[in-house]
Order: sequence, then structure tokens, then C-alpha cells
Amino acid sequence: MSTTILPAYSFVGQPPPAPTTWLSVVLPCYNEADVIDETYRRVKSVCDGLGKPYEIVLVNDGSADGTWEAMERLAGNHPALVLVNLSRNHGHQLALAAGLHVAAGERILMMDADLQDPPELVPQMLEIMDGGADVVYAQRRTRQGDARWKRAAAALFYRILQRLSDTAIPLDTGDFRLVNRRVLNVLLQMPERNRFIRGMVTWAGFRQVACPYDRDKRHAGETKYPIRKLLKLAIDGIASSSLKPLAFASIAGGLVAFFGIGILAYSLFSWLFVGKTPQGWTSLIITITLLSSVQLVVLGIVGEYLGRLFQESRGRPLFIIERIVRSNGAERVQAPEPKARAVQSAAGSTR
Ligand code: UDP
Ligand code: MG
Repeated sequence: MSTTILPAYSFVGQPPPAPTTWLSVVLPCYNEADVIDETYRRVKSVCDGLGKPYEIVLVNDGSADGTWEAMERLAGNHPALVLVNLSRNHGHQLALAAGLHVAAGERILMMDADLQDPPELVPQMLEIMDGGADVVYAQRRTRQGDARWKRAAAALFYRILQRLSDTAIPLDTGDFRLVNRRVLNVLLQMPERNRFIRGMVTWAGFRQVACPYDRDKRHAGETKYPIRKLLKLAIDGIASSSLKPLAFASIAGGLVAFFGIGILAYSLFSWLFVGKTPQGWTSLIITITLLSSVQLVVLGIVGEYLGRLFQESRGRPLFIIERIVRSNGAERVQAPEPKARAVQSAAGSTR
């Protein structure tokens, strides 16, 4: 097998590449050595059945368990495989973003690597797109594979998000979705770092259609989304789709200020006209804790937005690709020269 191996580079704000194959399947993988062979086998068998040119883009998100080596072994027997190795762990959303930048298909499918998203749904999703949809999002009818607390938390989160968000993000969807090139081009022009891709796809608009499915159990291994990462994703989801928490902060601040003015008037009145005012330890403590806790919550909300603003303002590349390995298959494109990318990246970073 001959491969094109690019040296280390990073890019941001690239002009979108022209599609050179029909379908790209993009799978971010973090410590998925236990499942990668089976995932590849099932995705490949579905894609082979389509009778159209395709590529499978596997993104290794800085795994520490031999996932990359497993991917390289797969590349040996399959020309339609594109392997992307990130320089370190970037997190699911950025790994997916890296895969989307590399994908060369007219249609692009995003899915998890752990087979919770069944590849067998893909023909149905493609059919819906044939009917004129620009985005086909897989919507979870059930999610038997996930723990009960996770299902409850997710259900609550999606409902809160839908209330807060300015564009109605469909309930109970993940990143398992099929988009066409024009939607992908919109996504590629969105430079934000704290990404919530399902919200970004919704924001892009066009014709978006649901495809209901039952979410399976993870094929093997543990979840790569501990509570810490889930919380970050949830806050990113809200902060990137809505400014309403800031309005909430002002309203809460206003209400408490109103309460504070009441207390002030009461104390002044008692001091002036009642004379001897009571010691009032309890009311004092209540006032102090109430005021300071509301202040801290408001500060925290403002801080979430401010921190994200700071991260965006640095304008660093979203992800760093250590190398891309492509087999020289018939429908393969040569990746552009890294030098050209670096120049484009400098020109593109005018934010
Ligand atoms: N993932 C990733 N980087 C990370 C965490 C997760 O690329 O830092 C990938 C992971 O390999 C999988 C997908 O994101 O393909 C979803 O992760 P997981 O299945 O563990 O999440 P869950 O389904 O439990 O929410
Ligand atoms: Mg999973």
C-alpha cells in the first residue's frame, strides 16, 4: 500500500474543498481500540451495498490505547479509508470538526465510533436526502444503551436547550446526521472553538428532516464522556445557542436588588422612627447570603460567556492534525500541500 503522509500542520478558515467522492463517513475515535475493527466492518459493509464511491474518515483523537495502530492495520486492506491523527486529545466536537474539514464527499455522514449509532440506518437516511432534504438527523426514539440517569439528564437538557435556543434544536438528537455539501460548507465557515455541532447544523437552516431510530448499547469499552465532559458540552450547547442566561442574570440581579432596597427602606424606617432597632442577626445573615449567592451566580454566568470570548479572541487553530494517511485508491484526492494550507490559514484568520 502506498500512502500520502503529511507532516505536522494546522489549519483554520480554509476555503472548502471540492467534493471528489459521493459519501464521506466521519467517525471521531478516542480510545476505541476495542470497537474499531467491528465498526469499520459494519460501516464498510453498509457502504459497499450502496454501489457508489465513498470514503471512511477515521479521526484518532489522541487515543492512548493503540487505536491509531489498529486504524493503520485497517488501512492496509482498504483504499477508501482516510486516517486523520490529531496531535493530542481535542475532545469529541473538535475531532469531528477535523474529520469534517478533511471529508471530500458530496454527502457527509457523522457518527460515533462505538456503534451506538447503527450504520444500517444510513441507506434510509440517504433515501430521505434523495427526497430533497439537506440535513437528515437521526432522532432517538429510545436509548436503551444509556444509563437511566443519563437518559433523564439528556431529556431534561434538550428540553431546556429548546426553550433557551433562538433556533429550535430538535429534541433527542446527537451528532448522528447526514448533511450535504452546501450545509457542510456553511459549517466549515463557522470558526468557533466551543463547538456544539448539532446546534450549528440546526442554525445553518435549509431543509432538515428527522429519521427516527433506536439507540443501541455501546459495542465495547467504556463511555468516553465522563460527567465533566458532558457538562462542558451542555454549557457549550447553551452558551453557543442562546444569550438568554445573560438576560436571566440581569433579571435575577434586578429582583434581588429590589429585595435589597426593601430591606434598606425597612432598616432606615426602623432606625428613624422606631428608635431602638433589634439586633436582627438572622435577617442580616439571610440578606448577606442571598445577595452574595445571587452575585456569584450572575458572575458565573457572565464568566462562562467571557471565558469563551477570550478563547475565541486568541484565534488559535481549532485542531492540530499530526498526519493524514490516505491509501491511493481510485477516487482518492491528494491532500493540498501543507505550505499552501499554512498560507491560506494565515489569510483566512482575519477574525
Ligand atoms: N470521542 C472523541 N474524543 C473524546 C471523547 C469521545 O473523539 O474526547 C468520541 C468517541 O470515540 C465516540 C464519540 O466521541 O466515537 C462519542 O463518545 P462516547 O460514545 O464515549 O459518548 P456517549 O455515547 O457515552 O455519550
Ligand atoms: Mg457512545
